[in-house]
Amino acid sequence: MPDVTLPGGVLRVALDVPVRRLFDYLPPQSGPAATFPETHPAAACPGIRIKVPFGRRRLVGIVVETARASDVPRDRLKPALAALDAAPVLDGEALALVRWAADYYHHPLGEAIACALPKALRLGAPVARTEQRWVATPEGLEAFQRGEPRRAPQQRRLLALLAGQQDASAALDAPVSLALGATGSATPGGMLGPGSEPAADSPRWREAARALARRGWAACRAETVAPAPVTTTAGARAAGPPLTAEQALAVQRIGGSLGRFAAWVLHGITGSGKTEVYLRAIEEVLRRGQRALVLVPEIGLTPQLVGRFRDRFDAPLAVLHSALTDPERLAAWREAFSGQARIVIGTRSAVFAPVRELGLIIVDEEHDPSFKQHESGFRYSARDVAVMRAQRAGVPIVLGSATPALETLHNVSTRRYERLSLPHRAVQSEPPRMSLVDLRAHPAHTGLSTPALQAIERHLREDGQVLVFLNRRGYAPTLLCTACGWIAPCKDCDARLTVHRAAQRLRCHHCGAETRLPERCPQCGFLVKSVGQGTERIEETLAETFGAGALVRLDRDVVRRRGDMESVMARVASGAARILVGTQMVTKGHDFPNMTLVVVLNADQGLFSTDFRAPERLAQTIVQVAGRAGRGAKPGEVLIQTEFPEHPLLRNLLAEGYEGFARTALAERAQAAWPPFSRLAAVRDSATTPEAALAFLTDARRAAGRT
Ligand code: ADP
Ligand code: ZN
Ligand code: ZN
Repeated sequence: MPDVTLPGGVLRVALDVPVRRLFDYLPPQSGPAATFPETHPAAACPGIRIKVPFGRRRLVGIVVETARASDVPRDRLKPALAALDAAPVLDGEALALVRWAADYYHHPLGEAIACALPKALRLGAPVARTEQRWVATPEGLEAFQRGEPRRAPQQRRLLALLAGQQDASAALDAPVSLALGATGSATPGGMLGPGSEPAADSPRWREAARALARRGWAACRAETVAPAPVTTTAGARAAGPPLTAEQALAVQRIGGSLGRFAAWVLHGITGSGKTEVYLRAIEEVLRRGQRALVLVPEIGLTPQLVGRFRDRFDAPLAVLHSALTDPERLAAWREAFSGQARIVIGTRSAVFAPVRELGLIIVDEEHDPSFKQHESGFRYSARDVAVMRAQRAGVPIVLGSATPALETLHNVSTRRYERLSLPHRAVQSEPPRMSLVDLRAHPAHTGLSTPALQAIERHLREDGQVLVFLNRRGYAPTLLCTACGWIAPCKDCDARLTVHRAAQRLRCHHCGAETRLPERCPQCGFLVKSVGQGTERIEETLAETFGAGALVRLDRDVVRRRGDMESVMARVASGAARILVGTQMVTKGHDFPNMTLVVVLNADQGLFSTDFRAPERLAQTIVQVAGRAGRGAKPGEVLIQTEFPEHPLLRNLLAEGYEGFARTALAERAQAAWPPFSRLAAVRDSATTPEAALAFLTDARRAAGRT
């Protein structure tokens, strides 16, 4: 295969396909893109989007680099169809970061880039915001002068408006539906005119506009909207509380590191005022005319948190999270890209968000598993990518947590990171008392032991609120036939199905498969029985004892839509609900000053798991939930139900707190040569036959030198 040198050069393009290589194309050859070499000098090419033929499809890819030659024979090289951008959507820094991540996590670059860009851009939406605007044509203006249209008052009114606008050389915002469909712009259509006019997207209005267009009197034009001017002055709108000495020291150290790379671990107990430290550090960043990137876990990005940023700063904020619609995500990305947003706050994939003149990165709850994509696709740790981003950009990063990941603590002890401690609550209140309930002495038939039930009753009597935590949603984790021993299995994977009683479904929490809930055993016809507890069943048990009205549940089954979580939280905040039952979701978020008791139902799942990180997750969860207790004037109490009260990790956690736990757990990891004292890679294989999968895995093991 001869190397051919091409006069126009070769574009090496990353495409969103699961193939581990770049694809070579010639520059576009005809049409408006024929000017490609002039408008896109080779150096400016990387980072622009390009539309290319790919098999029978047309795909939008990113030009990663240009080359003089290709390994592909010249007659097989195809020209690209069109360049979509005049300037890169991924600048040199951004592209280098994604390339690093794709390389580090062994993932195809095209798919990694797809994580970094909103879907609308990947489908070809313009980088700049466009709006559809209706204008009167010259014929329309003439017709209007003549007093037309005479018999269509709605059209006459509309033409009058358009004619009036024409004079002011302005135009009218189009209905949102048109703007959305055509361009992906999220600008809401406003009202057509003053008060009495119909809303811009009302069918009658649209009808009139179309009628005018048919007569050639009006036309709809797409116009690029210049981004609002970038604010140069941005700062605090409100002053925060006077800082505690510990907070002041943290702010001072972080502030002193602006302008160079430094990795700070802000280790502060829940309520110690970490967020206040972030706010002050960002204030300094804004004062320098720079921007901040804030990453928060999936469940941490509440309207409360965003509200706290908005209340504090007189600066535009772009918010990026997984529940955004595609147009919303594009709009937020544009705010960040244009530099208009001074603070970009988002969940995992926001680590790749464009932020100009980046001054500081903050990762809140850095230990949170949602920063790591586990399930499928591009598996990366947003926290670790963020550290790399900070290092490349030469800016400090703050990793905040009440329960830092063991890897992070290890990085502190090896001096790669430096710790700033906030060991006290910002607002005077006692840390909660923690104790264990021995389930061997106090069996829990309904999931709740007698001491736990008594404690709940006592706290309710004393006007407190109670949080009951169980990290398992659904009604019961197992459906069992008591006659033949059949256990409902998932057809698609090897997990067991979870009973969801309200929905009358069996669901696989592993792969998502589901079926109807059977009444009888499919094997022998005997009645089946739900075994074990999930939040749905605990809710039922508690409702029997304390009344359903006092109760509210929070888990992924309850929170299906945006706003659901808010309404649940509002019921707790108002005091309407006295008991909150929930999964992981309850560990972060609101402050409930009246929450005086936390009950952890099943600690033992975490103690004996095949996942070496399970004990760490357990300890983090216990500390995080416990942090919900006693944040007000009344002291808090935490009860942890376990069958293993002697377990050293639990003992350590209770006696010495997370710090003590972490020391023991890290020593165990060192002894067993688990990360961070070793590296771990998972080799996963999927195939149509077990033999093929096994053959590959056997080869892989041999290649790794283990036989
Ligand atoms: P964390 O993020 O560590 O959980 P927050 O920053 O949310 O802590 O602070 C907990 C509570 O204490 C909040 O209500 C916050 O407004 C308040 N707070 C934080 N710092 C101070 C301070 N220096 N003085 C008074 N109140 C503070
Ligand atoms: Zn059976
Ligand atoms: Zn399954």
